[in-house]
Amino acid sequence: MMDQFPVREGGPSMHAPTLSVVVPCYNEAEGLQELHRRLVAALVPHFSDDFEIVLVNDGSRDTTWAGMVALSDADPRVLCVNLARNHGHQLALTAGLAHCAGELIFILDADLQDPPELIGPMLELIRAGNDVVYGQRRKRDGETAFKRATAAAFYRLLDRLVDVDIPRDTGDFRLMTRRVLNVLQAMPERYRFVRGMVSWVGFRQAALPYDREARFAGETKYPLHKMISFAIDAITSFSVAPLRIASWMGVCAGFGSLLLLGYVLGAWVLGYAISGWTSTLAVILVLGSTQLMILGIMGEYLGRMYMESKRRPLFIVDEVHGSRSARNAVHQLHDTIQDRVNGKERVNG
Ligand code: UDP
Ligand code: MG
Repeated sequence: MMDQFPVREGGPSMHAPTLSVVVPCYNEAEGLQELHRRLVAALVPHFSDDFEIVLVNDGSRDTTWAGMVALSDADPRVLCVNLARNHGHQLALTAGLAHCAGELIFILDADLQDPPELIGPMLELIRAGNDVVYGQRRKRDGETAFKRATAAAFYRLLDRLVDVDIPRDTGDFRLMTRRVLNVLQAMPERYRFVRGMVSWVGFRQAALPYDREARFAGETKYPLHKMISFAIDAITSFSVAPLRIASWMGVCAGFGSLLLLGYVLGAWVLGYAISGWTSTLAVILVLGSTQLMILGIMGEYLGRMYMESKRRPLFIVDEVHGSRSARNAVHQLHDTIQDRVNGKERVNG
């Protein structure tokens, strides 16, 4: 069935699978069963059993983890990763990507807003020579007018500020090849805007337009404050344009103050007595707030540099559950034994 990516002998329990599906989940217990059902139904015609589903529990407060473990006990193709706490969507996704073994990587949200059935057309575009096929939203069902308006504004602002061509109205819903993932894995940054990072990698990328469905169950995990910090992460990790804007604000303020200075000196020479309270206060307020804003922008970048410089691990894994994890442990043990046999084991001290 797969011409470009041959199905390996022995099935998924022996080798790395052809496809890895990565799904970050935060309080998604209600939808897990349906997610698994629809995913499997969509994948089997294309990959038969040669795929794995990597579910990441991002510190959920409901029964998501128990649900994942149950799925993985019933289906050996499911591997689940429990993070030590909530790390946020992008880091949960990163953790999932770090655990997948497939040649092709399929990313989607747990809420079935991204239809798994699109794997077929995406696969065709990959076979046509693309390395990334990303879903591009034509319309978004079941989302508030506010969410749609802010999302539209965000993608347009991003477009103006960022040099990398990050396609509009795309999420992380995409199919990509292992070589793209390899580049992603080599990007160590903590503030991760994964869809932008994928665009930055390059190779051949294609869009697949689709209609975004409403959430299957539960509610959005992106309230306004998370959306704002997501937008700031996206902009600051791909652009220093805000710093440049800050400099321009300084130039404008400088120019304005020169004009004002001319006017004040002229008035002084001509002997006007200025009563002064309104104009003085106006200047102080405008300059004061401009300075604070510039300072804030600089602080935003400085803070990020500070956080990056700590080089802490991006995510903390509490537990990996599934038949593949057991297999990996066996392989690791085997490798250690081999190394010992070959005299490669490192001796401390
Ligand atoms: N998510 C996550 N950690 C978080 C927030 C969200 O893993 O802290 C997951 C969530 O379970 C879902 C995906 O990220 O699978 C996208 O979230 P959501 O559907 O709430 O975002 P929206 O579609 O509303 O933008
Ligand atoms: Mg969603």
